[in-house]
Amino acid sequence: MMNVKMVYLNGDVVPYEQASVPLLNTSFRYGAMVFEGIRAYWDDKTKALNLFRLDEHAVRLLESIKLMRFEAAYTQEQISQAVVDYLKVLAPTQDVHLRQMVFLDSDEFYYARGPLQMAVAAVPMGRRRGFEKGIHCNISSWRRISDQSVPPRIKCAGNYQNSRLAHIESIESGYDYPLILNDRGKVSEGAGSAVMLVRHGALVTPPVTADLLESITRQTLIELARDRLGLRVEEREVDRTELLLAEEVFLCGTAEEVVPVVSVDRVTIGDGRPGSVTCGLQEELLAAARGDSERYSEWRTRVPN
Ligand code: PMP
Repeated sequence: MMNVKMVYLNGDVVPYEQASVPLLNTSFRYGAMVFEGIRAYWDDKTKALNLFRLDEHAVRLLESIKLMRFEAAYTQEQISQAVVDYLKVLAPTQDVHLRQMVFLDSDEFYYARGPLQMAVAAVPMGRRRGFEKGIHCNISSWRRISDQSVPPRIKCAGNYQNSRLAHIESIESGYDYPLILNDRGKVSEGAGSAVMLVRHGALVTPPVTADLLESITRQTLIELARDRLGLRVEEREVDRTELLLAEEVFLCGTAEEVVPVVSVDRVTIGDGRPGSVTCGLQEELLAAARGDSERYSEWRTRVPN
């Protein structure tokens, strides 16, 4: 069981055991729950937490609510404030990953649109497995869900059945993590992360029209690559074979941050070790998130302990 003691539920911070959802809840039955994963970085020097890109997460949650046709029950400010209020009570002194969820308070049919509930829970989270040495990926035999049927742009629980199938297949086949092609056969993303590669010195990543979640880390790294590493960035369709020929491949996401991919379908990427762009972006991302300098302060929401 996860080490979560207190959670936020509809304005209150309550013991985890008390925050239950009825068995016949519509969101639970049909996966109709939208959510965000947000990181807060502990700064030991100033004894504060820095929420990274809180505004962008709130905006994306609102977009998921809109596309799910949930009723418009929350403002952007209420969504952000819930996370800040919760963190103030919880007062963790380490890096945490916050799970913010909006779901139906209903036991009606799957087309219910409200009323809604909002919950937030934090779990401690440092760097992910493979952050330093890299991971081995496969190209999944599953195709990514499509904007024409189950839009991956919506960050909704039901969408993760696609990720689940791909991830289990990957692990059972002896890999760490799947990369998934869309139904046009182009690279879309990982099971729960965006994918980027370095080809002929440029940073390349599939466009937001490639059947993927519009990743906030992806957008962050595009800016960091241009501004801090002086790289050319190409948002364009990516072929499967380009992954194999790339100088570097890596995953990115809020939880992953930047995780090097050292092989794809057992083909070694570059020299089989995390590359210089990947490592450079790891450093730049952590520096921006932790607030090592004044740079990118607009990306951080400080919550003093
Ligand atoms: N794609 C999927 C399917 C994801 O679940 C995530 C994690 N939220 C990402 C990409 C990365 O998005 P972000 O950088 O906003 O965390």
